[in-house]
Amino acid sequence: MKTVIIAGGSIAGLASAKALSGKFEKILILEPDAFDQHGEVRKGTPQANHVHGLLKGGSDALTHLFPNLPKRLKERGAVSCDFCQDVRWYINKKWMPRFCGPLPISFQTRSLLERCIRDEVRQLSNVEFITGCRVKDYRLDAEGKRIVAAVVERDNGTTETLNAEFFIDATGRGSLFPNWLSRNGFGAVKVDKVKVDLGYASCLMELPAGERDWQSILIYPKGPEEVRGATLVNVEDDRWMLTLAGYHNDHPPADIDGYMTFAKTLPQPDIYEAVKDARILTPIKIHKFPYGQRRYYGDLPRFPKGILPVGDTNASLNPLFGQGMSVAALSAKSLSHLAESTNFADTKSLKALKMGYFQSLRHIFATPWGLALGQDFRYPMTIGPKPFGLSVKNALKEIIMGASSTEIIERFYQVVHLVEEEKSFYHPKWISKYFRPRTK
Ligand SMILES: Cc1cc2nc3c(=O)[nH]c(=O)nc-3n(C[C@H](O)[C@H](O)[C@H](O)COP(=O)(O)OP(=O)(O)OC[C@H]3O[C@@H](n4cnc5c(N)ncnc54)[C@H](O)[C@@H]3O)c2cc1C
Repeated sequence: MKTVIIAGGSIAGLASAKALSGKFEKILILEPDAFDQHGEVRKGTPQANHVHGLLKGGSDALTHLFPNLPKRLKERGAVSCDFCQDVRWYINKKWMPRFCGPLPISFQTRSLLERCIRDEVRQLSNVEFITGCRVKDYRLDAEGKRIVAAVVERDNGTTETLNAEFFIDATGRGSLFPNWLSRNGFGAVKVDKVKVDLGYASCLMELPAGERDWQSILIYPKGPEEVRGATLVNVEDDRWMLTLAGYHNDHPPADIDGYMTFAKTLPQPDIYEAVKDARILTPIKIHKFPYGQRRYYGDLPRFPKGILPVGDTNASLNPLFGQGMSVAALSAKSLSHLAESTNFADTKSLKALKMGYFQSLRHIFATPWGLALGQDFRYPMTIGPKPFGLSVKNALKEIIMGASSTEIIERFYQVVHLVEEEKSFYHPKWISKYFRPRTK
């Protein structure tokens, strides 16, 4: 096939470009922003001002697509760490045990991660980036079944129609695609929204010299009593990023005094103690996240041929759990796998791709969505569709988090890192372990 057009040149768009690169002569990535060269945050991804953890499951998926990525990240200064040992994690009103574990990950700013992935994509000879360009509309074929062109607007105000054989919508949370579907007679996409009214405030800082046996401190609030949380993480260039967060409109402010006071009132003093004498390097940026959302494109009775959505357009998850990029990477990995056996010129084969892809999204989203909702619905103010059995699952998770067995904690981390599925928690083999009496 000749050309695939990818709308959006962020994490999901870049990973999809690699996923499809072997199947098309040309990959066009269309992106409104110019790409940064020096780590500045792009207008299209304001969330990059905040801590962006890449989970082990996401890191593995990206490494599958870009085997050279870990090396590139390391060369550019990403901080390697063992999540089980180097991260101090307060959750469920207690500090998790630390031990040598199987979860090597790296810490970096989101801008560095995106830049490294983009540089990997630039190595592909059939990829072309077109910046200063946004997709405004799609055109259907004469039968109204297949998307055959994208209408794009350039920064200079000109509009043009670009033809292609396949399209990817990777335009993120604010994607126009759901609206386009309903305007063009494909129906309204079902969407679940979970209102959490989360507020973020973040900046980069330099910590005073000193001995530390950790690379990050995570303080997760346990609802309903605790609403404030924070993440302090070591990133490239000997800097630290601190994100403060608050549920249900208890938001950290952007002035330094208010920011530090908020840090002082976290459920534990450890982050405040670590940063109270820090040198603040950047302005404090804020971000409001009113609700998590999950769209069910696969449930539409009719769906146009020749296009698939990836990344945040499918689901925009509560960022406290650091899952969004990993889910985008896992979806792109699945797309890559399914694309291998797809004949993009054949209608039946395209249908199989679409069905396989939407089915895989159900699996991929089940764990991150379920874990996030488990925490979100601890607050009575959270509004949205509450899954059946959540309270029982939460009770079991509390037992898991409180376990003294390293084997159980390791399992918990693997689920949180999207290496294992949440349902594995509830396997009889594991349940019997949770209730086994402690041996001395
Ligand atoms: C405050 C905050 C903190 C977060 N923290 C984490 C974290 O710790 N870990 C984690 O994994 N995830 C985190 N996330 C989620 C993560 O940012 C997203 O899941 C991830 O960026 C998804 O990538 P994406 O490519 O789908 O969308 P985006 O990164 O949002 O990118 C969309 C791209 O599409 C472009 N675009 C928009 N409209 C058009 C158009 N019409 N035509 C062409 N291009 C267009 C935009 O310019 C942008 O480049 C966080 C999110 C927020 C809001």
